[in-house]
Amino acid sequence: MKLKSKSLCGFKQSVIKEHFDEFQRIVSCPRYVCGKCARVAGQKCFLCKARKLGK
Ligand SMILES: [Zn+2]
Repeated sequence: MKLKSKSLCGFKQSVIKEHFDEFQRIVSCPRYVCGKCARVAGQKCFLCKARKLGK
């Protein structure tokens, strides 16, 4: 299953549980952080208010 249709911020806990391996891949090399929810992801399409992570 591809999870790209929605940002990480919008997922329900049950969905996160079900696809935990895929979420682990998405957040394992974080390059962006959500300015609203403080979640991290490797691609900004997963976040609702993506901001590039600082050094
Ligand atoms: Zn967010």
